Amino acid sequence: MGAWRIGHGYDVHRLVEGRRCIIGGVDIPHEKGLLGHSDADVLAHALADAILGAARAGDIGKLFPDTDPAYESADSLALLARVMEHVRSLGFDLVDADCTIACEQPKITPHRDAMRANLARALGADIDAVGVKATTTEKLGWEGEGQGIGAWAVCLLEKR
Ligand code: MG
Repeated sequence: MGAWRIGHGYDVHRLVEGRRCIIGGVDIPHEKGLLGHSDADVLAHALADAILGAARAGDIGKLFPDTDPAYESADSLALLARVMEHVRSLGFDLVDADCTIACEQPKITPHRDAMRANLARALGADIDAVGVKATTTEKLGWEGEGQGIGAWAVCLLEKR
């Protein structure tokens, strides 16, 4: 049996007018969207960092610098797929992952399974291996006031 590795990732993006609201690869109709150099998919970024963390392979800021024009408006699901490809090349396979999104609006639950399917496809994993859920923060703090959206992810990798 290979060694198990746990990874954790966290990301935040600001909610602003005039941007698309792409979360877990789902383009959610909303009056505001997420600000960032890439498509600012906060969920894909948190999960990518969890996977890189478990592989002790740095973070997405290091792999895909936001100063690099190549990643302007980048599709974060494609970046997630590249992260998984990278950690596979280091000898790791994904066993399981789970994510939590903290936001007041938009509502996440109607899009949850589409997000799971998108993330699983990017990872080359079964949809059952990827959990997504959401919580509000009872209108407290910056998430509750709608200034931004935060996401956490954990994952389990197995070293071959
Ligand atoms: Mg990010």
